Amino acid sequence: DSTSTAVFERRESDVRSYCRSWPVVFERALGAEQTTEDGTTYLDFFSGAGALNYGHNHPALKRALQDYLAQDTVVHAMDMFTPAKRDFLLALEELVLRPRGMGHKVQFPGPTGTNSVESALKVARKATGRTDVVSFTNAFHGMTLGSLAVTGNSLKREGAGTPLYHSMTAPYDDYLDGRTPDLHWLERVWADSGSGVALPAAVIVETVQGEGGLNAARAEWLRALADLCRRFEVLLIVDDVQAGCGRTGTFFSFEEAGIDPDIICLSKSLSGLGLPFAVTLLRPELDQWEPGEHNGTFRGFNPAFVTATAALREFWSDDTFAETVRQRGARLREGLERIGAEAGGAAYRGRGLLAGLAFEDLSRAERVAAAAFDRGLLVETSGPDSEVVKLMPPLTVTEEELDRGLQLLAEAVRATA
Ligand code: PMP
Repeated sequence: DSTSTAVFERRESDVRSYCRSWPVVFERALGAEQTTEDGTTYLDFFSGAGALNYGHNHPALKRALQDYLAQDTVVHAMDMFTPAKRDFLLALEELVLRPRGMGHKVQFPGPTGTNSVESALKVARKATGRTDVVSFTNAFHGMTLGSLAVTGNSLKREGAGTPLYHSMTAPYDDYLDGRTPDLHWLERVWADSGSGVALPAAVIVETVQGEGGLNAARAEWLRALADLCRRFEVLLIVDDVQAGCGRTGTFFSFEEAGIDPDIICLSKSLSGLGLPFAVTLLRPELDQWEPGEHNGTFRGFNPAFVTATAALREFWSDDTFAETVRQRGARLREGLERIGAEAGGAAYRGRGLLAGLAFEDLSRAERVAAAAFDRGLLVETSGPDSEVVKLMPPLTVTEEELDRGLQLLAEAVRATA
């Protein structure tokens, strides 16, 4: 009993998602692999839902944390000045913000992605004096009430059981190649002030909808959206919690589109080692909180500053790592397209190392993910009907591991035909 999954079933309330799909006890993890307590090793193309872009226990990040803890340094997370926070701010400024010409200020909203989204929504409403936030169909921004208000998923919204604050959902359907960026109707609604439609405080968007089915917005559409927001002085929030930190082949996922968002949410892989950590990047004039107006206990977890700094210095000092990610992303796309064609037309979705296959038979993706698990590969599904098999290998994945994962996926797809 003490080594089985029985105690989780008996005592843990929330055994409803990943542990349902993977009813084993994971004990150790290194790089792209996780091993159970009875010694079975899995190739991990799930990466902690995107929190492990540099793989499990990356030696440089682990050493930085071990060294930090060995010195009786500050471990807590209040918003005091510490050398660890200073080092993080300097690394972010030097390696990420300044080279991209970004003057954004760094806000520490709390430990998770949804905390970053909440603070983005609040600051947008405060700075503009407006209420509404436009979000998109199939968007996912987090499970707290504000984030849920801009999440386009009925299962998750209805779970809240309460009316959420005003928001408006706009169709996110321009990921389909060859479609014209149709933001025309949004423009007409915003311009029509006489009919009493309130101009929103902000638009919040993911460049690739991680949970919503790996829908990748085209650069042209993102540029049109950014332009529309600028013209109406509506703030543009990019939620880069899942697609950021290098996942699409650049540090921020919106770089390819060349847009300059007012507010950016980052979390998941920011700490590098999987420690809870988030930031909200704000254009300086939006930095408007009064002292004490927006605070919380766990806003500056010093061990996360340490590992985040180590990750920035290890991987983002030049473009070498990003270039490798782009190459791996292209290889993943080729492999997925091959498997998709063999499966009779399952479609490639996503961008970079946030990619997968959409199946027409809606139950197929879940069966493929289960068959992959049986073969030693961890992958999850995504999309409103869980119709997409989603691959998120660590960005440090080797070619050999990538090919092995694709091979296991191909076998799983064949086994579910
Ligand atoms: N935004 C996006 C785009 C996400 O993918 C997620 C998590 N899947 C969140 C926000 C919420 O992050 P967290 O689960 O850490 O609150």
